[in-house]
Amino acid sequence: MVGCARRRDGRGGVALASRVDPAQAERIALNTPLDAVGGIGPTDAGALGAMGLTNVGRLVAHLPHRHEKLEAESDIGALAPELLASARGEVLSVRALVWPHARVPRVEAVIADGTGRLEVVWFNMLWMRHKVRPGVRVRVQGRTERFKQALRMVNPQTEVLPDDEPAPREARVRPIYPATERMPSWRIARCVGEVLDRALPLIEEHLPEAYRVERGLPALADAYRMMHAPRDEREFTLARRRLAYDELLLLQLGVHMKRAHLRRTLKAPALRWSQAIDRHIRERFPFPLTPGQDAVVKDIVKDLSSPTPTNRLIQGDVGSGKTVVALYAMLMAVADGKQAALMAPTEILAEQHGASMGRMLEGSRVRLALLTGSTPEDQRASILRGLEGGEVDLLVGTHALLGERVRYASLAVAVIDEQHRFGVHQRAVLRSKGTVQQGGPAPSPLDDTVTPHVLVMTATPIPRTLAITLFGDLDVSTIAGLPPGRQPVRTIVVGPDDRPAVYRRLRQKLDAGEQAFVVVPVIDGAEEEGDSGLKGVRALVRELQGGPLEGKRLAALHGRLKPSTRDLVMGRFRAGLIDALVATTVIEVGVDVPNATNMIVEHADRFGLAQLHQLRGRVGRGEKASACVLIADPTTEDAQDRLKVMERVSDGFALAERDLEIRGPGELFGTRQSGLPPFKVADLRQDLGLLTAARRDAAAWIDASPGLSHPQERLLLRRLVKTYGASLGLGDVG
Ligand code: ADP
Ligand code: MG
Repeated sequence: MVGCARRRDGRGGVALASRVDPAQAERIALNTPLDAVGGIGPTDAGALGAMGLTNVGRLVAHLPHRHEKLEAESDIGALAPELLASARGEVLSVRALVWPHARVPRVEAVIADGTGRLEVVWFNMLWMRHKVRPGVRVRVQGRTERFKQALRMVNPQTEVLPDDEPAPREARVRPIYPATERMPSWRIARCVGEVLDRALPLIEEHLPEAYRVERGLPALADAYRMMHAPRDEREFTLARRRLAYDELLLLQLGVHMKRAHLRRTLKAPALRWSQAIDRHIRERFPFPLTPGQDAVVKDIVKDLSSPTPTNRLIQGDVGSGKTVVALYAMLMAVADGKQAALMAPTEILAEQHGASMGRMLEGSRVRLALLTGSTPEDQRASILRGLEGGEVDLLVGTHALLGERVRYASLAVAVIDEQHRFGVHQRAVLRSKGTVQQGGPAPSPLDDTVTPHVLVMTATPIPRTLAITLFGDLDVSTIAGLPPGRQPVRTIVVGPDDRPAVYRRLRQKLDAGEQAFVVVPVIDGAEEEGDSGLKGVRALVRELQGGPLEGKRLAALHGRLKPSTRDLVMGRFRAGLIDALVATTVIEVGVDVPNATNMIVEHADRFGLAQLHQLRGRVGRGEKASACVLIADPTTEDAQDRLKVMERVSDGFALAERDLEIRGPGELFGTRQSGLPPFKVADLRQDLGLLTAARRDAAAWIDASPGLSHPQERLLLRRLVKTYGASLGLGDVG
């Protein structure tokens, strides 16, 4: 730690060690290349450049990811046992012990400073004997303990001190940087030390002083100083808070700016609503709505009867009954003589929605069409004509709905089901395509500033931090509770040893007329993946057919089957002609077969908790009690512990929060979600409070200044557009 050692300056303060006297140092700018900075040699400049740190500004923006607390040095004579302490002294003696003299190879030394002696032991670090030689001076930091009659430290952090090491240091905090082999943290710290004092005054502030002070945030330049050279832990916390707030505020400003822009420039049809319309719609449903559904319907009615375009996220746990709520919104459009569309992530799901909506609309005048990738060409052409001519009222389909040839006569409501499956990108595409008749030549009663109301539905409960981050521009409604008569799914986690028993029990259930899903992570197993023991769909069907489920009607279901085959299989399963489906996660969302009451998930440790909860939601949809068995490999012990949560917790939100904690935001949806903002400091796992504050501040700011066009907002706007301009499509406002 020679590199970032500090010394006292004449004024009694602490200054960063620098080989250049700041008074006569050359001037630098934030864009000065590092190899032009005196004090940073070509080797260091090269290694930093390889990390993308090519100039002064980038180096200063390279923040430590953590800090290490260094204790103040004490006199050895003043040390007591069981303390975290730091001391320095001269090495009096050293010896290395190996087997048979020591069970664990170790180096022992005695150091002394004139007030006392300290024994030091390093286990498994025989190389220490080359570093710690008699006569050198070292500084050690670690926990003290009483050993026989002496005081000793085991495996302390150890630094050999140079001859010119100044007076004993005080307690301080040392930054630890993301580093590479060529450029370890301490060298980075030294290079930062070379430029920091001169770079800080060049950092411009983008927040008004009063605003910042009111929120207890340090100035930007101060925050960078406190990050790189904190005087204590409190400073680091303070600096981190400022920089995290900035990241969150910037994103929220962008999101709200975009939203304000859309609201100003776009209009949606304000749909008529009356008690009579409400009654007519509800008459179509085979059951009364639950209070949770009613509450969300109320939000929707309010949204859709206003000309402000709706952007609402409807979340509800698996099985909470989102489909009828969507249908309610769609029928509001039809009641007003307009059209509605529902987009589902898979063909299976689109077909299922088409079928269940079709049943509810039987005998009505509402004309419903289904459009997927596998709709035959002639049928497609006639549906497209019907849409354009206004003969089709409701369109249900997959992302085929986004196709360029799809034009509506009067689309008023667009629903996206299981939105997370589409990812952030597709939502933006739909939004941009949302404008009716966009660029199309077809005659329309609507001009191109009219957009449909958009509802997005998800059963993947999204933790609050993520919801705000990903969907900050959406209003959120949550369907609370489940329809009556639902029984919780009994879940157990077992190891592979229990497999035979699990399948024996399943056989008994199938004998009794129940149905089952068996889920595996991949279509093809070990052969392809080179992962021994990983079973795929096909191999498992063969195994079960030849053994535990012999004579039962099994079928495979996965994404590589032809859509028509998939429909056929689903149809037969629904009709009870198949006992068990062996499937990949294609069944993850939405599939609704009430007689399927058993689920077995193989290699359950390969799935996230939120995803398992989705899968588990495929059973427990009828009146009968359902069970879900998660088979997980015990060699991954953490994974089994993680899965145990599934046994206790049936609330999807709690599970998603847990997943976020354990696996981080990118993993939450099973696959890495692209489009997550590139935060460097903010951490969605711990910054909910800051995020909420940033969101509120951003909303108020944009309310007061929708275009961020005041001169004193220029820098803020520039940084905003630079960071999020492309991803949020802010080009036109920036
Ligand atoms: P999800 O929210 O997971 O999409 P669905 O809309 O598929 O849930 O509904 C799950 C099941 O609950 C369906 O079989 C549906 O018919 C039924 N259901 C929905 N709402 C009610 C209700 N209010 N009363 C009784 N059953 C309902
Ligand atoms: Mg659904």
